[in-house]
Amino acid sequence: MERLGEKYQSVEAFGWAARDSSGHLSPFVFSRRETGEEEVRVKVLYCGVCHSDLHCLKNEWHSSIYPLVPGHEIVGEVAEIGRKVSKFSIGDKIGVGCIVDSCRACESCREDQENYCTKSVATYNGVHYDGTVNYGGYSDHIVVDECYAVKIPHTLPLASAAPLLCAGISMYSPMKYFGLAGQGKHIGIVGLGGLGHIGVRFAKAFGSKVTVVSSTAGKSKDALENFGADGFLVSTNEDQMQAAMGTMDGIIDTVSASHPILPLVGLLKPNGKLVLLGATEKPFDLHAFSLILGRKSIAGSAIGGIKETQEMINFAAEHGIKAEIETISMEYVNTAMDRLAKGDVRYRFVIDIANTLAVTRS
Ligand code: NAP
Ligand code: ZN
Repeated sequence: MERLGEKYQSVEAFGWAARDSSGHLSPFVFSRRETGEEEVRVKVLYCGVCHSDLHCLKNEWHSSIYPLVPGHEIVGEVAEIGRKVSKFSIGDKIGVGCIVDSCRACESCREDQENYCTKSVATYNGVHYDGTVNYGGYSDHIVVDECYAVKIPHTLPLASAAPLLCAGISMYSPMKYFGLAGQGKHIGIVGLGGLGHIGVRFAKAFGSKVTVVSSTAGKSKDALENFGADGFLVSTNEDQMQAAMGTMDGIIDTVSASHPILPLVGLLKPNGKLVLLGATEKPFDLHAFSLILGRKSIAGSAIGGIKETQEMINFAAEHGIKAEIETISMEYVNTAMDRLAKGDVRYRFVIDIANTLAVTRS
């Protein structure tokens, strides 16, 4: 059945899609809409591989729409602009993150927190207001309203800037909102993966003291020497965890799989906050007393608004913050997904779309 709006999808596009919950990606020809008056067409140059891509490919959140073209850490170049576009010119370097539209009228939208608009439209695996399903950045181009894209400062290297569009803003926003950024604050970052390692760099740039809590002892050198953390705890080492009890003002938990959070609550000082970012499937096991004694709180946070995303990108450019990446070809993406599932990535895969996608089209 033709979806409403599909007749406007007249521009051919090419990417890689999964057809089912095996998550296996392969070449996929589809179409995108004409560039609207307030929209830009972006030639995708690089796209980061977020763990959320993997969750969606495998339908771990039970909401995947196939065929599914993932990718919401997009850096590209403006290739075409609509008549009313004022923010971008052709050739500008541009970033597109996790959302491409929102209602623009609700309280969240009015407060520049489109990420909490209940009608926001996801960059992929979301249904646009015209009824079409969105396809993400593992593709040659994407069309987006200029209000939902950000400028990439020319001092940022493009490939390692891509992960900032999701991983970067997802760490930056809660640090600021929950008051964990700044001198005199001790922040714990749980899980040293794509989100976690960028989080360490932001927290250090804010002047906070940072302790990484990791399940992988072998990441200690990277955490302390490459990313600048002040401390490193192995989450399974009871002596280390015990010694750090009650020392942290806040913790950002980025772990992508089910794990105990009670020991993390124990690491907090009175009034401390545990912010959950990892979108794990199973509910957590928690005793009320662990929060009551110490007036502690547990919260969640989802990416950030577009204005804050631009602020974060500018801050990253100013402070020289970038992701630690392994650049891969499109052809390698299924192997990369297997490695990501096993935690075998230091610390973000980024697909070189511009140089490696087209050759996979036979
Ligand atoms: P990632 O690169 O795979 O990193 C996750 C890290 O979690 C791993 O490097 C590992 O770090 C740790 N980990 C994984 N499995 C574990 C286990 N069984 N027990 C303990 N630790 C484990 O993933 P990511 O891209 O950073 O994303 C992390 C999570 O955040 C995902 O669930 C993703 O969907 C979610 N996410 C949320 C938002 C948001 O706005 N809320 C935005 C983007 C992504 P160690 O080796 O150091 O333990
Ligand atoms: Zn993401």
